[in-house]
Amino acid sequence: MYIKKRSLSGKKRIKKQPKTILDYAFIKVDYSYLRITVKYFEIMSVRVRFAPSPTGFLHIGGLRTALYNYLFARHHQGSFVLRIEDTDQSRYVSDAEQDIIESLEWAGIQIDEGPHKPGSFGPYRQSDRKELYLSFAQQLVEQGDAYYAFDTTEELEEMRERLKKSGNPSPKYDSITRQSMKNSLTLPQDEVQKKLENGDEYVIRLKVPRRETIKFEDEIRGIVSFDTAGLDDQVLLKSDGMPTYHLANVVDDHTMEITHVIRGEEWLSSTPKHMLLYKAFGWEAPTMAHLPLIMSPSGGKLSKRKAETEGIPVNTKEYRFGHYEPEALINFLAFLGWNPGDDSEVHDMSSLCEKFTLDRVSKGGAVFNYKKLMWYNEYYVHHRTIDDLLPQVQDLFRHSGIKADDGTFLKSVLALLHERVSKVDEFVPMGRFFYESPTDYDEKALKKWNDQSAALVQSFAGRLVEITEQEFTAPVIKQGLEATVEAESVGFGKVMMPVRIALSGQGFGPDLFPAMELIGKTECLLRLQTAVERLV
Ligand code: GLU
Repeated sequence: MYIKKRSLSGKKRIKKQPKTILDYAFIKVDYSYLRITVKYFEIMSVRVRFAPSPTGFLHIGGLRTALYNYLFARHHQGSFVLRIEDTDQSRYVSDAEQDIIESLEWAGIQIDEGPHKPGSFGPYRQSDRKELYLSFAQQLVEQGDAYYAFDTTEELEEMRERLKKSGNPSPKYDSITRQSMKNSLTLPQDEVQKKLENGDEYVIRLKVPRRETIKFEDEIRGIVSFDTAGLDDQVLLKSDGMPTYHLANVVDDHTMEITHVIRGEEWLSSTPKHMLLYKAFGWEAPTMAHLPLIMSPSGGKLSKRKAETEGIPVNTKEYRFGHYEPEALINFLAFLGWNPGDDSEVHDMSSLCEKFTLDRVSKGGAVFNYKKLMWYNEYYVHHRTIDDLLPQVQDLFRHSGIKADDGTFLKSVLALLHERVSKVDEFVPMGRFFYESPTDYDEKALKKWNDQSAALVQSFAGRLVEITEQEFTAPVIKQGLEATVEAESVGFGKVMMPVRIALSGQGFGPDLFPAMELIGKTECLLRLQTAVERLV
C-alpha cells in the first residue's frame, strides 16, 4: 500500500463581509478571490515494473534497477512486473529474456507477473501487444496530437543537410520543419487518404508543441522541467508497424496500471515526451523516480569497456556463473545509490524490503567499488554453514576433476578453509592438496626453502614415522614439530614453512596440523620425501 499526497486547487469567489460603511458602498463590485487547496491522501496498491529490452545479457545496472523496483514493491506490499520491451527487432537477442528471468531468480527477486508468469495485465512481451499500440497511435492522429509522416530517408537527410548548411547544428523534425515536410499536416487530406490506401510507407509522429515547459515531479530529483523547444516530433509508430519505445512504454505503463516508474537516469530525457503522451491521452502519469548512474572507480559512467579494463564483471551472468554469493551482490547493489540512514551495512533481502524508501536514494552517481563487493561476498560466505556449502563445493571439485565424494572428509576440509575464502570457488585451489600431492611448488614459496630446509624436513619426518596411524592427530603432530624445533635449535617457521611447501606446494594455507591429520600419515611422509628429493 502506498499513500500518495494529492491536492486539488481552484479559485473560489467569496463575498467579502461588509464591515464599514465604505464596504457597504462597494459591496456590489468588490469580490475577493480565495485560492483554496484541498489536500487529501489516496491509498493505492503499488505496481512497479522492470522493463528491459532483450538486447543482451542482464547488465549489473539493470539488476540494480530491478532490485530497487522489487524492494519498493515489497516495502508497500505491491506487485513487481517484468515486461519485455522487444520492439526493436534489429537488436533482439534470443537468449536474453531467459537470461533476465534466470538472473532475477538467482538474485532472489521474485517476479509477480511476467511473460513466464501471466497475470491479468498480459501479454507481457511488447511484440505480442502490437495491435494495441497501433490503435492508440491512430487515436492520437484522430485527436490531432499526432500525424502521419511519409518522408523518405533521403528526404529526411536532405532536410537535415539543408538546416545544417543554414547554421542549425542539430536539425530536428519539429513544429517549424514539419511544415515543409510530407505529412498529414501539410498534404491535402485526399492525398493522405490515397497514400494510406496504397499502402505507402509512413510513420506516426507526435505533434510536439512549440515552446512549452513540461514540468514533473521526480521522487528522487524533485521538480524537473524541460522545454519542448529541444524535442523532436518523436516517431511513435515505425514504418514496420512497430511502436517506438516511447509509445509502447507509456501505453503499457498505463494499461498495466503501473503506479511508479523507477528507472535509470539515462531515461530522464525521455520523460518529457512521455508526459506529453500522458497529457494527450488524458491519462494520469505514474510517479517518476530516476536512479543515479553507476560510475566507474576511475570516473565517468561504468561502461562495458571501462568495466572490462578495471576488472569489474558487468553482466549478472558473470556473477551467477562466477560463484559470487547472490545475497552479497544484492546487498552491495542496494547500497549503490541508496542507504538506510544509519551505519548498518549488512542487510538481507527481507531487511532491505523493510528499509527501502525512495527518499533515501541519492541523486549523484554511485561509484562501483569492487573491493566493497568482495567484502560483502566474504561476509556472506563466512556466514554460510558447512552443510549448506557442501553440495556446491563438491560440484566445484568434481568439475575440476577431483572426486570429493566423501562428504565427511570434505566437511572437515571445508571447516579448515572456511574462514580463508572470500568466494566459494576458492575452496578448490586452496583445498586441492587435501586430495592430491602437489605437482609443482609455488615459486614465491620456494624463496623460503633454503639450504637447511631439506635436512629439517627430514628430521621432522623421522619423528612422524614414530607416530602410529591411530595417533596421527593434530596435537601429536604438533608435538613432533615442537620436538624437532627444539632438537635442531631453529625457529618454528624454519621447519613449518618447508613442511607446508612440501605438503601443499604453497607458502600459505590453513592450519597445518589438522590438515596433516586429514591427509594421513603415509601420504604426508610420501610428500615430505618427494620434496626433499626434488628440492635439492
Ligand atoms: N526498455 C527500457 C530499457 O531497456 C526501459 C526503460 C524504462 O524503464 O522505461 O531499459
